[in-house]
Order: sequence, then structure tokens, then C-alpha cells
Amino acid sequence: MHKMLIGGTLEQGSRTLDVIDPCTGKAFETVPDATQQDVDKAVAAASAAFPAWRDSSPDARANVLEAMAGAIEANIDELADLLIAETGRPRDLAMFELGHLAVGYLRYYASLRLEPELLIEDDTRRVELHRKPLGVVAAIVPWNAPVFIACNKMAPALAAGNTVVVKTAPTTPLTTLRLGELIAEVVPGGVVNILSGGNDAGAHLVSHPDVAKVTFTGSTATGRKIMEACAPSLKRVTLELGGNDAAIVLPGADIATIAPGIFGFSFFNSGQVCAVIKRLYVHDSLYDQMCETLAAIAGSCKVAPGTDAEAQFGPVQNKAQFEKVRGYIEQAKEDGKVVVGGDIQDGPGYFVPLTVIRNVSEGHEIVDEEPFGPVLPVIRYSDVDDAVARANASPFALGGSVWGSDLDQARAVAARLESGSVWINQHCALDPAVPFPANKQSGFGVEGGVEGLYPYLALQTVNMAKPQAA
Ligand code: NAD
Repeated sequence: MHKMLIGGTLEQGSRTLDVIDPCTGKAFETVPDATQQDVDKAVAAASAAFPAWRDSSPDARANVLEAMAGAIEANIDELADLLIAETGRPRDLAMFELGHLAVGYLRYYASLRLEPELLIEDDTRRVELHRKPLGVVAAIVPWNAPVFIACNKMAPALAAGNTVVVKTAPTTPLTTLRLGELIAEVVPGGVVNILSGGNDAGAHLVSHPDVAKVTFTGSTATGRKIMEACAPSLKRVTLELGGNDAAIVLPGADIATIAPGIFGFSFFNSGQVCAVIKRLYVHDSLYDQMCETLAAIAGSCKVAPGTDAEAQFGPVQNKAQFEKVRGYIEQAKEDGKVVVGGDIQDGPGYFVPLTVIRNVSEGHEIVDEEPFGPVLPVIRYSDVDDAVARANASPFALGGSVWGSDLDQARAVAARLESGSVWINQHCALDPAVPFPANKQSGFGVEGGVEGLYPYLALQTVNMAKPQAA
């Protein structure tokens, strides 16, 4: 059984949690299920490790982040096997999450250095702006990209001089626990603690009085609870929540050119990504052609267990999400028309065929809510202003995109979207150097880029009066 990393030692804990194979629906592993005592122990270890880590040099901290990235690279095949086992996804996607995203974010934050800023200097005073680490950071991680999201929280938090307690998602703890085992030798004891456990462990962690900041990625509903839990001690909080990203296909767009990209950015990781296309607005003049082209691409793809070398898409990761996606599709079938997919078998496993649905619109759950699965509603519009208004009329505002042949027109339309990220002729183009902001109920407290360091730092001004001649 893989163990939790607490205070530099690997611990088995006193309870266990089953890990389910999403390709079969059957338990294949157990992991520790962190108790309140385990959480308290991890927070105590992180608190004890904080002063020395805070006072270490940025170069020393960067070396540790580099060593973490190196541990992933040196063990990437083993880690990919675990990630495939717990998510069911194809190998190339597992390798992308580990080798590109997780390693990329660790290395990026290892490369950053923040110097104090000189705000004012004159004959009478010198005023500087400093940024100081906060203390213990609780990092709460969802199941859709478990290792990447753990790393894109650990990397800036650690680079800034904080210590961290990570709580993995209940259904995807394996790969992150293994990473904890691998880095136990290269990270000073207590600086990184990794717990597996349920929602109760998360709730206890975020309300712990010795936690200075919570960084959370997950659903908007849980985000609200976390914000409440942080209120009593006014903890700092970053919330990366749900998304319902709209993409607008402009009149005159070349469907043959853009359809593969739209397809890829809608069904990436079987749609289980916060910022993939979840509402596709297509101009009247191109609507039928777009639906047919997407259906042809989806119909040619293989959905199968990630251990199948030909698999291009895996299952939905857990039963609760599978039932949710099935519910959205069944409801959409009542008024809409399934162009491809839509026929969901009762197992084995949580497989959902890639599904495109047309003739649906606002008022259908599949359009108004976040399905978080391999299903794309295609929505017809006839006026670009109307499409922009409808794209913006969501409580979510994570990402959005505009697709067209006239780049000036696409830029002008993109500028009117309210989402934190706006892409043109692409979607969900993540890069560690680029901030990934969330607007409205998609959250706040940005991740990514230099801006992604600031939420892990407290501001302090140092305002010095200069001696004056008598
Ligand atoms: P979730 O909210 O159910 O769970 C996320 C994590 O929170 C899990 O580790 C869970 O155990 C923990 N948790 C649950 N209740 C808690 C509580 N009261 N206190 C503390 N922790 C608690 O989300 P999920 O289903 O795992 O993830 C899917 C959601 O995540 C989707 O809505 C998706 O859009 C969102 N997401 C957002 C981003 C982003 O960057 N904005 C990225 C990935 C996923």
C-alpha cells in the first residue's frame, strides 16, 4: 500500500480507502484514509518546518523544486502506470500531465526570483515593498488532473517560502502518494506533506487554525464551503472552480480547418477539464456543417481503457460523475438531437461515448451547467452580438474562445468576453508563464505566471525616514 508523507516519514495511517478502477468499477488498491489526527500531525509538521524553509535562500528552494521535477522524470513510466490505473486515461495523456504539465510548472516556479520593489526614494525617505511567505498552505486537489494540480499548487507555494499539506481527491490518490514517496528523500522533512483521504479530511484541514492559506481546485459548491470555513480565522484563499466555457464560431470560419481543434479542445481528457469547450455557439450559416464534421471526427475515435494501446479517450473517472453525465445526456435527448454517441451502456466501468448534441439551447441543463464529461452541446446563433451576450450570461467565467478566419474580427469579439482566459482559434492553451485567472463564480486568486506567486505572499512595506541635517 502506498503511504502518506507526513513530517518527512511515510505513514500508513489507521484507516483505508478503496481505489476504484474506472474501467471496471471494481476496487483494485487501498490507500490510507487520513483521520483528523493525521491531518493535525501533517499541519504540525508543516508548521515546524516553516521557519527554516522561509529563511532558506530562493536558490535552495529552487533546487528542491528541481529535484521534485527530476523525481517525476526519473520515474515517469511507473507514475504513468499508476495514473492510467486510477483514471483509465490513455498513456499519452498520462505522460502529458506528468512530463509536460507537472514538471513544467515545478521548473517554471523554480526559475522565478522576486526582489523587493523600491517604491519611493528621495532625500527624506526610502520606501520598499517586500513580499513574505504566509506559513502553512493547505492544497486541496480534485480528481481530473491530480498530479498536475498538486504540482501547480506546491510549486508556487514552496517557491514563495511556504510549507504545504496536500490533500488528494478521494478517487485519485495513488500517483500523488507515490510522488510523495519518491520525493521524501529530496524535500526537507515537513516542507511537503501528502495526505490521501475523503472530504472530511479536507474539511478538517481547511478549518485548521494553524493553516494560513487554502488553495483549492474543485467544484464551485465545495469552493463556497471552503470560503466559509476560512472565514473564522480570515485565511487567505485561492479558489479555482468550475467552468462552462463558451466557444463562438464566427460567420466565414473555415470548418474543415477549425473543427479538429474544436473537437480536441472539447473532448480533451474526455471533457473532464475545467477549461475545455462546454458550449459551442455556431453561426446559422455553418451550423449543419459543424455538427456533421464533429460527428465524423468523434465517430472515428476509440474510447477504451487506457491500457489499450489504441485508446484515444478513457472513461469518466468515477461513478458519481458518470451518473451526472448520463443524467445530462438523457435530459438533453428530450428536446435535442444526438448527432453522435449518446448511448451509454451499464458497465463494465464508467464509459461514455463521445457525444455531440444539437438543437439544444439555454434552459437545458447540458448548456447551463458544467457536464464535466465527454459531451458537447452545439448551439445555433444568428447574430454575433447575441452570441457574445449568451456566452457571457453564465455565472461561470473561466475560459472562452472565438474561432474565425478574420483575426481582427475574432480579436474584437474575444475582447468582449468576460472569462479569465480568452483564446483565439484555440482553447485551454495552458503555459506555466501565463496566468490562468478565474472570473465570476469560477473563482479568484490567480494561478500561473508571476501573478501566481503573489497569492502565496503577504505584502509588507518598509518605510524608512532618512536622517536630516539639523
Ligand atoms: P470537489 O469539489 O467535489 O472536490 C475537490 C476536492 O475537495 C477533493 O479533494 C475533495 O475531497 C475536497 N473536499 C470536498 N469537500 C470539502 C470540504 N468541505 N472542505 C475541504 N475539502 C473538501 O470537485 P471534484 O469533483 O473533485 O472536481 C471537479 C470540479 O473541479 C469541476 O467543477 C471542475 O471544473 C473543477 N476544476 C476546476 C479547475 C480550475 O482550475 N478552475 C481545474 C480542475 C477542476
